[in-house]
Amino acid sequence: MKRSKVYLMYSHVEGIRRNYPYWPSTFGSCAANNCTNSARGGGLCAVCHEKKLAKYVGADHAKRYHDSVKVEHAAYLDMKDAIEVID
Ligand SMILES: [Zn+2]
Repeated sequence: MKRSKVYLMYSHVEGIRRNYPYWPSTFGSCAANNCTNSARGGGLCAVCHEKKLAKYVGADHAKRYHDSVKVEHAAYLDMKDAIEVID
């Protein structure tokens, strides 16, 4: 069965998201050949997912999405630190 481009796009969106977990997670080597990044659960790293996402939506959109996940994840971690200070 051929998967839609939107489904394939979404799989890389989710792949990027998955590499920025909210809780402690297991990271290993990226599954892509010649990539030295770490990746959650032995899958592809966020950079490799961004490259694959770019094939569907273009490099600018893929980078923008990945950057937004980084910003959102940093905000989450800052809030987590803030809660520990408030407690
Ligand atoms: Zn990679």
